[in-house]
Amino acid sequence: MLLFDIYIILLGLLFGSFFNVVAIRLLNQQSIAFPPSHCPHCKHKLSVFDLVPVFSYLFLKGKCRYCQSKITPLYLFGELLTATSIFVVYKFVGLQHELIPALILTILLVISILTDIRKQLILDVVTFPMLGLLIITRLFIGTEPFWYYLLGGVVGFALLLLVAIVSRGGMGGGDVKLYAAIGVALGPQMTVMSLVLASFVGAVIGGFLLVCGIVKRKQPIAFGPFIFIGTVAAYLFGQKIWNWYMSLLW
Ligand SMILES: [Zn+2]
Repeated sequence: MLLFDIYIILLGLLFGSFFNVVAIRLLNQQSIAFPPSHCPHCKHKLSVFDLVPVFSYLFLKGKCRYCQSKITPLYLFGELLTATSIFVVYKFVGLQHELIPALILTILLVISILTDIRKQLILDVVTFPMLGLLIITRLFIGTEPFWYYLLGGVVGFALLLLVAIVSRGGMGGGDVKLYAAIGVALGPQMTVMSLVLASFVGAVIGGFLLVCGIVKRKQPIAFGPFIFIGTVAAYLFGQKIWNWYMSLLW
């Protein structure tokens, strides 16, 4: 069992490394397969030893082996984030059919965070195929009937559209479409909870960053990471959080 866990983590790191490339190349509107990975500064082609997740970054101390340019720690972040979230989802959902939509959602969220942090964009080329996959998956997999998940998609889309209109562009169109996909994965009830949690975490962390002077008022912050936290929490622990909240009221 432990060996399988390690295997999942290593697989997660490799996927993370791949998602980094996907995020960067889609943002730059480049092909994912060509040209082969190279240093963005000196254009030197990277060898297998430069591409080992986490270890290459640590071993090279975050610098390009050929030109000594600094490599952004976002690479490391993407690898660790992917590995951690895939492992956590696998551990909590377990080896059952539900793991399929759970992983599709995880991959969508991870790539969206990576593009959102880099350029404050959540891309349709990522969201739409994953949304399609989730709809197809929900035809066959789920504890609720199919219409329930479709309703979730509509609720997610409508709620975020409302927020986008009210906030006058504080929330982008990418977030709105992302929430349609989240809705199909979670169903309406947990979609609402995910948004509540995301807003709560966003307000707490955003307020903290503001007080510490790390960000300035009016400076846009990517909402993607908060959507990620709220959605994963609602998906994995939604019912528990709900029960706990209700117990406070009575
Ligand atoms: Zn270089």
